[in-house]
Amino acid sequence: MKRWLVFGLVLCLLLSGCTKEEACAQRTVFCMDTVMDIRIWGQERDAAMEAIVEMLHSLEKTWSATDADSVLSAYNRGEDVLDAQQKALLATAEQLRSQTGGAFDPKLGSLVALWGFYDDNHHVPSDQEIQTARNQTQWDLGAIVKGYAGTQVVEILARYDVDRAIVNLGGNVQTYGQKPDGQPWNVGIQNPAGGDSLGVLAVTGSMAVVTSGDYQRYFEQDGIRYHHILDPETGRPADSGLCSVTVLCADGAMADALSTALFVMGLEDACAYWQAHDDFEAIFVLSTGEIYATEGVVLSGCAFEVICREN
Ligand code: AMP
Ligand code: MG
Repeated sequence: MKRWLVFGLVLCLLLSGCTKEEACAQRTVFCMDTVMDIRIWGQERDAAMEAIVEMLHSLEKTWSATDADSVLSAYNRGEDVLDAQQKALLATAEQLRSQTGGAFDPKLGSLVALWGFYDDNHHVPSDQEIQTARNQTQWDLGAIVKGYAGTQVVEILARYDVDRAIVNLGGNVQTYGQKPDGQPWNVGIQNPAGGDSLGVLAVTGSMAVVTSGDYQRYFEQDGIRYHHILDPETGRPADSGLCSVTVLCADGAMADALSTALFVMGLEDACAYWQAHDDFEAIFVLSTGEIYATEGVVLSGCAFEVICREN
C-alpha cells in the first residue's frame, strides 16, 4: 500500500499556514518517495527555499537505496565513494545503533529488499531466506535520512535572514524559530487507525517531530499485515504492541532513528530508554488504541497516560 505517498501532506496538519498578512514562501516537492511541504517566513525566504530544495534532491541522490546510481548503492558495492560529511552521517547512524542496543540498525538493507519494500514486490520470506539476508550487510538509511534532512534544513536556514519556518518532510516535521505571537507551532499527529489526526502537539522553537508507524508502509497477505519496521533480532516486522511512536527532539537525525528504535523496543523498553535519556520526548500509540506520552509532551485533542520521570 502506498498510503505513505500522500500522508506527508495529509497527516501532519501544519496548522500554522501562510497568511496574507505576512509574506511566506511555500513549496511542495516530491522527493525521497514522499510529498514534502516547505514554508518559510522572513527577508531571504526565497533564497533559503532554493537552497533547501537543492539540498533535499541532493540527499535523495546520495542516499537512495533503490537507485543503483546513488552514492549509497556504490558504497554498498564496496566502492570508496564517501566524502567526509557522508562518512559522518554513517558514523552518527552507527553510534545510534549502539546507543539503542541495535533496535535501530542502519545495515538492514538486504532484509528490507527481501521483504520487497524497495520495489513493492512484497514477499513473506522463509526462515532460511531471512537468515541468509541477515548475513549480508547492506546500509539502508531509510530510518534516519529524512530526520537528517531536517537537521540540514536548520543549518541552511541559519545561514539566511529568515524569521521562522516549518517543513514537513513526508510526516517528519521540522520547525525553526518562534512564531511572532509567541504561540507554539501546532503539529498534528497522525491517527494510526486513520481518519482525523490523533491530537495536536505544541512545539516551541526549532524542533523535529518524527513518527514511525506500522500504517506508513505495509502489505497484507492472508489477513496479516506486514509493515516496514523490522526487528533486527528476528528479521521480521517488529511485533512490539505499538502501532506508532512519535519523537520530539532538537536533533532531526536522532529523532528519526529513535522513533524507529523505540517502535522496535515496545513500550516498556522504550520507557526505560527515555528514563535514561533527557534529550527527547515521545508519544506512544498501542495497538489497543491506548496512548502514552512522556511528561514533557504538550498534546491536546486526545486522552493519554503521562509517563513521569523516576528520580
Ligand atoms: P522509519 O519510517 O523512520 O521508522 O524507517 C523505516 C525504514 O527504515 C524502513 O522502510 C527500512 O528501510 C528501514 N528500517 C526498517 N527497520 C529498521 C530498523 N530496525 N532500523 C533501522 N532501519 C530500519
Ligand atoms: Mg525513523
